[in-house]
Amino acid sequence: MDVTLADIHAAAKVIRGVADATPLVPSPFMSARTGADFLLKLENMQPIGAFKIRGAMNAVAALGPDVAGVTCVSTGNHGRGVAYAAAQRGMRAVICMSSLVPQAKVDGIKALGAEVRTIGISQDEAQVETDRLVAEEGMVEISPFDDPHVIAGQGTIGLEIMAARPDIETLLVPLSGGGLAAGIARAAKAIKPGVKVIGISMDRGAAMYESLQAGKPVEVPEFASLADSLGGGIGLQNKLSFAMCRELLDDVVLLSEEEIYHGMQTLYYEDRIVAEGACVVGLAAVLAGKITPIGPVATTITGRNLNMDMFTRIVTGQDVQLGDVTVPGRAYKAAS
Ligand SMILES: *Cc1c(COP(=O)(O)O)cnc(C)c1O
Repeated sequence: MDVTLADIHAAAKVIRGVADATPLVPSPFMSARTGADFLLKLENMQPIGAFKIRGAMNAVAALGPDVAGVTCVSTGNHGRGVAYAAAQRGMRAVICMSSLVPQAKVDGIKALGAEVRTIGISQDEAQVETDRLVAEEGMVEISPFDDPHVIAGQGTIGLEIMAARPDIETLLVPLSGGGLAAGIARAAKAIKPGVKVIGISMDRGAAMYESLQAGKPVEVPEFASLADSLGGGIGLQNKLSFAMCRELLDDVVLLSEEEIYHGMQTLYYEDRIVAEGACVVGLAAVLAGKITPIGPVATTITGRNLNMDMFTRIVTGQDVQLGDVTVPGRAYKAAS
């Protein structure tokens, strides 16, 4: 199993007019900092507020007419994408989540007409219900990252960036289960083999990073993070995203919560963009001096579905409590 440039071009046709063509805009601040054109791909402007609509649309469109419905485990954005795509096809969708998922995300998914099952306090417990729906009710499970149609859908971001700016030399990609990074890297490197693709995760519970280090998928403990969309495992039975990330990523960089906090402030104050912690890791890694990109460089602002109370605390420089960890508050000051 693999995902090819042809698969990604096919996905682009499937999602056209619904989930494509987000703006690629310059960040004057980051361009001045790096001395290179620094571009932001604004997936926060997607109809569901995140890029996951691309993969979900492509995966749901690939299903035959006799499918009883679709199901998935999700902490939010993928579930929202699957719910949106299923609604477009008039198909039943059941999104399984743990009781840790915030009510606002649950309400967003229900508003799209999907059923929500809340089970247990972990992704693993929610998975049991998804497995039951597949076994007993004939529903089809759509993985958030380990599915060829999902990866091809996310890869359309790479096509759009390279079409808009063929001179791109470096792509900075937020990294969790690796569907996004695998898709973008496959598209970009098929078009321009010399382009560098760097994945970025938080430094606690970085499942893909730990798995790449170990040479095989491993389990990691899950921690609360400002980059909550980057949490969770890659699956010990990972079929595709691990192998693709191992083949295609030039490097993986890890960030502290303080560095992510500063990245969120910077994107807000300098570019006036409201985005999740998961989205700012590309510019945060550059600001932290952990990546010195060769330009032109593009990073994907992956989504905007964040807790606004927490966001307000961050942009006003207050402490943020994450489980048993406190991220110390700090008023925004542009790093020099
Ligand atoms: C899912 C997600 C990611 C990471 O994507 P993967 O394919 O799991 O690596 C990054 N940012 C946001 C906002 C997401 O929802």
